[in-house]
Amino acid sequence: IGIATYPNAGKTPESLCKHADLAMYKAKKGGKLSYCLFTDEMEQTQLHQKILEDAVQGAIKNKDFSLVYQPIYDLVSKNIVGAELLCRWKHKTLGEILPDEFIPIAENAGLIVDLGHLIFELAIADIVLLSQSQQQTLWFAINVSIKQFYGNDFIDLLQSTLEKNALPSSAFEIEISETAFTEETMLYDKTINQLAASGVRISIDDFGTGNLSLNRLNTLSVSTLKIDQSIIEKIEHSKNDNNMLNTFLNLAKNMSLLVIAEGVETEKQLDFLKAHDCQYGQGFYFTEPLSFSDFKAIL
Ligand code: C2E
Ligand code: MG
Ligand code: MG
Repeated sequence: IGIATYPNAGKTPESLCKHADLAMYKAKKGGKLSYCLFTDEMEQTQLHQKILEDAVQGAIKNKDFSLVYQPIYDLVSKNIVGAELLCRWKHKTLGEILPDEFIPIAENAGLIVDLGHLIFELAIADIVLLSQSQQQTLWFAINVSIKQFYGNDFIDLLQSTLEKNALPSSAFEIEISETAFTEETMLYDKTINQLAASGVRISIDDFGTGNLSLNRLNTLSVSTLKIDQSIIEKIEHSKNDNNMLNTFLNLAKNMSLLVIAEGVETEKQLDFLKAHDCQYGQGFYFTEPLSFSDFKAIL
C-alpha cells in the first residue's frame, strides 16, 4: 500500500494518485505486506533516477564507458592469473558514477543488453591487444547481468566474437551475482548451462550474499565461486565467521569448483585464506582496479 495525504502530498486527485503510486513502489521494494507514506524525497529520488536513466542511454550511444582491470592472484605463488574487468563511467557534469549506481538503472530501464554488448566490445578490443603482446595465459572475468541471458543474443555474440578474433573460450569467465538467482530467473539456467558447454567458465559472484540454493547450484554448470568481500572482511572476527568461510571453501573443494576471495585487504586475511586452501584472491591488498595501461605494466 502506498499512502499520500492531502494537502502535503498533493492538492489534486492526479498528484495524490501519482505520489501514492510512488510510495507503493517504495513499499514493494521493502517486501510484501508493507505500506509506505509518500515523502518529497521520493520525488527527488525519482527525478534523479530519470536524469541518470537518460544519461545512461546517451552514454551508451556515445560509448562513454571504459574498463578497469583488477588482477586476480594465485595466493601461493602470488602470480597474476587473470583479471576482473570492471566498468567505469565518467559523466561530463555529474562526474564519476560507479557501477553499483548505473547498472541497476540500466537494468530497470531495459538498457542492460545494449550496455552489456558495449562492455563486451570494449573488453574484446583490449584482450586482443593484450594477447598480441603477452606470452602469459590469462583469464578474463566479465561481469554480466543475468538479464543478458534473455534469448540467445548474448551467447551468439560471445561465441561469434571469440571465433572471429581467434580467442579461446577457456580464457573467459562470466560472472553472475548470486543475488540474481531468484525464482524469476530460473528460466535462464538452461542458457547459462549452454554457455558453459561452449567452454566459457561461469562464476558465481558475491557468493554468500544471495539466495542460490545448493540444489540449484548443483544443476548449474558453474566453475568458480567468488566469495563476497563481506565474508572475507569478517576473517578472524569470530569463530562463527571463520567457520562459515571455511564451510564455503570446503563446499568449493568438494564440488571441484575454483574459489576466489574477493576484497582481500589485509595480510591477516591472506594468511587465513592460504592456510585454508583458498586458491585465488583479488583486492586492495594486492592492487585496486587499474587502467588498461597500468594493468599491462604490472604484468
Ligand atoms: P563485483 O563484481 O563484486 O566487483 C567487485 C567490486 O569490489 C568492485 O567495485 C571493486 O572495485 C571492489 N573492490 C575490489 N577489491 C576491493 C577491496 O579490497 N576492498 C573493497 N572495499 N572493494 C574492493 P565496482 O567496480 O564499483 O563494481 C561494483 C559492482 O558493479 C560489481 O561488483 C559488479 O556487480 C557491478 N559491475 C561492475 N562492472 C560491471 C559490468 O561491466 N557489467 C555488469 N553487469 N556489472 C558490473
Ligand atoms: Mg564481479
Ligand atoms: Mg563480487
